[in-house]
Amino acid sequence: MKKISMVDLHGQYLRHREEIDKAIHEVLDSTAFIRGADVEKFQEELASYMGVKHCIACGNGTDALQIAMMALGLKPGDEVITTPFTFIATVEVISLLRLKPVLVDVEPGTFNIDPAKIEQAVTEKTKAIVPVHLFGQAADMNTILKLAEKYGLYVIEDNAQAIGADYRLSKGESAKAGALGNIGCTSFFPSKNLGAYGDGGALFTNDDDLGAMIRSVVNHGMTKRYHYDHVGVNSRLDTIQAAILRIKLRHLDEYNVARQSVAAAYDEAFNTIPGVQVPERNSDSEHIFHQYTLQVDIKVRDSLKAYLGENGIPAMIYYPVPLHLQPAYANLGYGRGDFPITESLCEKVISLPVHTEMEKDQLAYIISTFMKFFKK
Ligand SMILES: *Cc1c(COP(=O)(O)O)cnc(C)c1O
Repeated sequence: MKKISMVDLHGQYLRHREEIDKAIHEVLDSTAFIRGADVEKFQEELASYMGVKHCIACGNGTDALQIAMMALGLKPGDEVITTPFTFIATVEVISLLRLKPVLVDVEPGTFNIDPAKIEQAVTEKTKAIVPVHLFGQAADMNTILKLAEKYGLYVIEDNAQAIGADYRLSKGESAKAGALGNIGCTSFFPSKNLGAYGDGGALFTNDDDLGAMIRSVVNHGMTKRYHYDHVGVNSRLDTIQAAILRIKLRHLDEYNVARQSVAAAYDEAFNTIPGVQVPERNSDSEHIFHQYTLQVDIKVRDSLKAYLGENGIPAMIYYPVPLHLQPAYANLGYGRGDFPITESLCEKVISLPVHTEMEKDQLAYIISTFMKFFKK
């Protein structure tokens, strides 16, 4: 049996090796390393896949979030609502821009922001909500969009983990996660569902003015060559990454289906183990399993992880410490007990390997090894 890893980037590369090597060499020969033709083409192809009018590539997913907040003209002191159960980037850019992160606890089953708790957090200063579509399924966007409309708030989706997931809107039609709010942000970090071979990110919007603003902000705030109307940043996707991503985008749906079938096998096997909770689904969102995350008893989580490790099965804790308890964010004034669901999830979650190259024997081995732990 092949060694099991959390993500098998090498195995996936081997599948597309010839095509990818050729694309990289074409960029090398063109020497158009920045703003080469592949960047523009990738943006068009991804916009079309996402069903949005504008896709603007940038340097990484963290930049995408920052650029979104800059493009919307958020000002120091403005409040931005998001969750303490996410990757640090979400809250980091809010703080960097001197906006005020206002945290709201998550739903215990889906790990996503609890819309019922958003309304209580809205003040006169609230300008935006940043739902994070954690682990591969969208937050309750139908409720969030309604709240945003009611209070006149922007919605910036952190879609770094759910690219490709379909979402059913209350009107009945379906759209992609990341195409539902004012701006959607994503990351092409190598291990993400659509991963580059380096850093990359993108923003999505259907608003023409916002699209133009984002294009300007990513490029130093330039409007006309060497004319700057607002402060911007330098954040771009390089041509080699765009060329690789163009190839991988054609396979994104396949990748997501491969992840879903691993998740379905895990679900079926682990569903019946007392004390193990399989990931709950939001009925309106497809789940594309950026992570497959179980909840187990606090008392066994760490020994389970150690046992799996001893048996050659990597497992990860996403995330071990809630954002509001990180020393860097102590000045937000939150403390233990403020977000009990998040705090307890940090002690109960464990993510198992889920990727596009999982082989049948590996999957069977992970399942049987996992089950043995609970039969002891
Ligand atoms: C990966 C990730 C980001 C940041 O993306 P980078 O490309 O690493 O900057 C932001 N938010 C979430 C939820 C992520 O998983």
